[in-house]
Amino acid sequence: MTWRNWSGTVTSTPTQVAVPVDAAAAAEVLVRAGAAGRTVRPLGSGHSFSAIGQPTDIAVSLAGLAGVRSHHAPSGKVWVGAGTRLRDLNRALDALGVALPNLGDIDAQTIAGAIATGTHGTGLGLYGIAAAVVGVEIATASGEVLRCVPGDGTFEAARINLGALGIVTALELQTVPAFRLRAVEGPMPLEDVLADPRAFAASADHAEFFWFPHTTVASTRRNHREGAETAPPLPGWRAVLDDEVLTNGVFALVNELGSVAPRLVPTLNRVSAAAMGSRTYADRSHRVFCSPRRVRFVESEYAVPLGSVGDVLRELRAWYGRTRAPIQFPVEVRFVAADDVWLSGAYGRETAYVAVHQYAGSDVGDSFAVFERIVAEHGGRPHWGKQHTLDAAALRAVHPRFDDFLAVRDRLDPGRVLAGPHLERILGA
Ligand SMILES: Cc1cc2nc3c(=O)[nH]c(=O)nc-3n(C[C@H](O)[C@H](O)[C@H](O)COP(=O)(O)OP(=O)(O)OC[C@H]3O[C@@H](n4cnc5c(N)ncnc54)[C@H](O)[C@@H]3O)c2cc1C
Repeated sequence: MTWRNWSGTVTSTPTQVAVPVDAAAAAEVLVRAGAAGRTVRPLGSGHSFSAIGQPTDIAVSLAGLAGVRSHHAPSGKVWVGAGTRLRDLNRALDALGVALPNLGDIDAQTIAGAIATGTHGTGLGLYGIAAAVVGVEIATASGEVLRCVPGDGTFEAARINLGALGIVTALELQTVPAFRLRAVEGPMPLEDVLADPRAFAASADHAEFFWFPHTTVASTRRNHREGAETAPPLPGWRAVLDDEVLTNGVFALVNELGSVAPRLVPTLNRVSAAAMGSRTYADRSHRVFCSPRRVRFVESEYAVPLGSVGDVLRELRAWYGRTRAPIQFPVEVRFVAADDVWLSGAYGRETAYVAVHQYAGSDVGDSFAVFERIVAEHGGRPHWGKQHTLDAAALRAVHPRFDDFLAVRDRLDPGRVLAGPHLERILGA
């Protein structure tokens, strides 16, 4: 089997693929691997842009551990199998009358993979998905199956765990009653957003914007939790036109053109920004949060303190303007509240996530390196599932609980069964 991540930038051929049917079987895989001096990588859906999900020896598929295991209606807590895809989870939760409080852009990831890397959406009063975790079942290299709960010293590390502590076999999630979102999308001068990013972030329950380099417009998305005000869902033809034709079909053609004629990129970006247009509609929360992404791209994303986002964007804009860098994908900016998840980008600080992308078929040039230099000046923390070049020393400097995490890693996996070149770079040997 050849393994490949979604963006096609990382590939490998695992020596073996294990498919455990329960937590004890997952623990057995780890024990046998340890005894044989082999290494193990739990597989998600391969949607990380970094090499964090790359299996270099034994791969473990969690496909056999999927679905909702139990639902406690009075508390809204659900146990779900680690291999459950978000799209299946969202539908299953909806059927139970509950939902995750916040989601990212897509729903193709597994719940365990999304949590392991700190996947997040947007919402200044809300958190990343890992903050909804209230229990973790994890098979460890010693052959134990632990049920971790808040305050036990392992749970704190096991939410954003980077796949470095063991094989997560199930997760307990705190859901909220199912809700609808009213989406209001439209252009705004970038300068107006940058004048007071906090006010923009606070202008909706879930506010974000996209900015195409070489343009002056921010394409804004504001999702409001529906109360008195409502709106009809998008008619089927409009959803297909927006999501499939404009966002995916036309955008793919525009990117192909830009990759062969980079000088046209500033003009093409104005076309892409205009195509994002304005619309208002409402739907069930997960249908508004997530949409298909068929145009392949590469991405780097950093969490910076909310107060720094204006400077970061202005510095990026100045660099793109000076160099006329042919970057065809928009910069995306999202916001979340400070949280207490040890390796979270938002640990202890109100955060803006700034993401830069490039079409998978085009060269990033030095744009990602320049982006990393800019965010480094603002204490940026990289998204664990996206491209970055930081090593353990640099990550320790920006993550206050880095050494606490490493202590849990030493305790649960002293023999480094959950190992590989990428983890060695970001966590040390
Ligand atoms: C098109 C696209 C859109 C995206 N949108 C967003 C977004 O809106 N917000 C955001 O924050 N991120 C986003 N991402 C990034 C993505 O959410 C993360 O990279 C996420 O980790 C991918 O989940 P996965 O299931 O593919 O995990 P993988 O990438 O396969 O694995 C990630 C890590 O999880 C570990 N892992 C997986 N399962 C287990 C397990 N059972 N036990 C222990 N470790 C495990 C793996 O070993 C690896 O270390 C996006 C990515 C793409 C490609």
